[in-house]
Amino acid sequence: MTLPLSIIRALQHATQRLVAAQERAIAKGSANADPTVARLDAEALLSFVMNCTRSHLHTWPERVLNDAQAQLFNILITRRAAGEPVAYLTGHREFWSMTLEVTPDTLIPRPETELLVELALQRIPADSAWRILDLGTGSGAIALAIARERPHCHVIATDRSPAALSVARRNAATLSITNIEFRAGDWFAPLQGDEFHVIVSNPPYVSTLDPRLVQTSIRFEPLSALASGVDGLSDIRTMAATARQHLINKGWLLLEHGHDQGHAVAQILHDYGYQEVGHHQDIAGLDRVSHGRWGYKNR
Ligand code: GLN
Repeated sequence: MTLPLSIIRALQHATQRLVAAQERAIAKGSANADPTVARLDAEALLSFVMNCTRSHLHTWPERVLNDAQAQLFNILITRRAAGEPVAYLTGHREFWSMTLEVTPDTLIPRPETELLVELALQRIPADSAWRILDLGTGSGAIALAIARERPHCHVIATDRSPAALSVARRNAATLSITNIEFRAGDWFAPLQGDEFHVIVSNPPYVSTLDPRLVQTSIRFEPLSALASGVDGLSDIRTMAATARQHLINKGWLLLEHGHDQGHAVAQILHDYGYQEVGHHQDIAGLDRVSHGRWGYKNR
């Protein structure tokens, strides 16, 4: 017979296991040891297993897990210790105050990507019926946030992965967001003749040589959503070039990119003839989003 396992003991034990796993990862040259992160991961997984909030865990530390809960928690901590992201283990991630389903077919939405949503919303008047495009939508995070904040706009979201689009469609249905349309295909391929007021994307922008792609937890995420040529800029170049055929006069292109790519992306946008080129920093103070405007003078 196993001893009854209280919430407090389960969390202490799981946190120790996750810290030990972090230390093994550091020995291999990646990640940082962070007991706070280990503890938060353990709490997120235990609230998932017990179907309760984190504050419930704090309020009832002596409450006991039943056998099924203890078993599932043990399995999830083992998987987390092996590097699997919490969001894939629970199947959910918060973005822009929405709870989104995520699967290994979709990138896990990052908090810094909310900057891209903010910058798009700053340009889209509140009651406008503009046409907005999100390229490579994944779980649908960006497109759904914009569609929800701008209910009169029509948002089109593309992705070449049918599996990702199924997740995005389910997210739209769960959130009852209907001013959005999903199309399968590579970047602009499913958009013959369509024009937009604003085009946004969080494209893949990591260098194919970046060791993080194999050493850190991002190895569990779809490579096609992360890596883009040796300099990480291949897809951004394609988008900047092709977006010109799909923007109305004075339409905006807004692209997320790596913290060290701000100048390179600005150069690409200038080279392709965009005007009003600029970039913006995320909550960590890092260059994260660049924009350009496609003006009638260019045509
Ligand atoms: N921000 C992600 C990372 O560096 C990359 C996301 C992307 O390529 N679009 O982990």
